Amino acid sequence: MDFNLSPKVEALRTSIRTFVDERLIPLEADRANYDEHENISQEVLAKFRAEARSQGLWALQMPVARGGRGLGLAEMAPCYEEMNRSIFGPMVFNSAAPDDGNMMVLEKVGTDAQKRRWLQPIVDGEVQSSFAMTEPMDDVGEGCGSDPALTTTRATRTNTGWRIHGRKWFITGAEAARHFMLIARTSEDERKGLSAFLFHADQPGWRIVRRIPIMGPEEHGGHCELEFDGLEISDDDRLMEVGDGLKLTQIRLGPARLTHCMRWTGLARRSLEIAMAHASQRRSGTGRLIERESVQALIGQAGMDIQTGRLLTMYAAWKLDQGDFARKEVSMAKVVVADALHRAADTALQLLGAKGYSRDTPVEWIYRYARQARLVDGASEVHRMVLASFMRREGTEFFGWDAPR
Ligand SMILES: Cc1cc2nc3c(=O)[nH]c(=O)nc-3n(C[C@H](O)[C@H](O)[C@H](O)COP(=O)(O)OP(=O)(O)OC[C@H]3O[C@@H](n4cnc5c(N)ncnc54)[C@H](O)[C@@H]3O)c2cc1C
Repeated sequence: MDFNLSPKVEALRTSIRTFVDERLIPLEADRANYDEHENISQEVLAKFRAEARSQGLWALQMPVARGGRGLGLAEMAPCYEEMNRSIFGPMVFNSAAPDDGNMMVLEKVGTDAQKRRWLQPIVDGEVQSSFAMTEPMDDVGEGCGSDPALTTTRATRTNTGWRIHGRKWFITGAEAARHFMLIARTSEDERKGLSAFLFHADQPGWRIVRRIPIMGPEEHGGHCELEFDGLEISDDDRLMEVGDGLKLTQIRLGPARLTHCMRWTGLARRSLEIAMAHASQRRSGTGRLIERESVQALIGQAGMDIQTGRLLTMYAAWKLDQGDFARKEVSMAKVVVADALHRAADTALQLLGAKGYSRDTPVEWIYRYARQARLVDGASEVHRMVLASFMRREGTEFFGWDAPR
């Protein structure tokens, strides 16, 4: 594998970097640019989305024919990292979760008709989308979370399609989304018991119970609890085959977890940039804070953590680009990058002193946001467990090399 960037990717990366530095980072200091949930306001977003799009910095992950730039995952990584040096970046470039993961999986598994109806409007920035899988725990402790086998939301056959009953929660963006992807139980089969469906917000038979209050800043549309009470879904809006829900989830979650890693690496780098600028300026005794060895140790450790996560991300991206599921590699990247983001945000906050605890810099925003990284798309404990089960199954092959056979 070769992680040198092609001239095309390097040109995109530098254009994104300039856009972020000159257009987005200056917005962060003015509270007027935020909505009530600490995200970029819709008016400001619309303006900067139009600008990014006119510069060809739009939906890089989508094919050119669809209006994107046709990048593979290893090509996306350096660009996504640059985007999320601003907390507003991914939304502006139409590369934010969950739309990003939803677009990639629809492009991969949707039929042509499904892509036209459900995918293209997301690529065009006309609608937002949600992915509804996780469920609140019921009275007997069941509900899809780390273990999809506990899915209780049911899809039952009708003459024309499916009827849905159940509950989901923590569905990112649901209050603003128009297009939804839903995972529901269609049988008791251990591996083939779940199926995936698409529905539109305007269809009757479901409602948002509440927008769940959370500790961090919120994506547009928040994180919502949904109730399904007879939602009718046509069989044309079933994704893949009946029983392929778990497979679809795996196809979606590999790249989606990895694009989280790419964005989080950008946020982690930004945290350190802010901390280093401060430490270089702040006097400490006869010198500057950055000259203190203990400060250097914190910065060096955080920088090394970021780079470790980035290399794991690039390796997993390369594997996915080869057509591999890269389950081990994605799990490793997800755990390491989530921790690297935590340490970078925490280090930055610490080095900024009281200012780090204030809202004068985006570090406290990043610090609160970062806590979800160890939970979403698989808790770190579960990814470690996955790695252990690979080690048990593969033995020494776990550490095998990629070599021509
Ligand atoms: C901000 C945010 C956004 C989200 N967005 C979405 C979304 O858009 N769509 C969606 O479907 N879901 C979403 N989720 C849900 C998220 O994917 C789940 O929270 C996650 O899968 C964990 O499931 P759970 O919360 O039910 O925790 P549980 O499965 O109950 O696990 C709780 C804890 O138990 C431990 N644990 C669980 N299983 C194991 C194990 N096998 N071995 C060891 N320890 C274990 C872990 O520490 C874990 O954190 C979101 C969550 C958050 C916080």
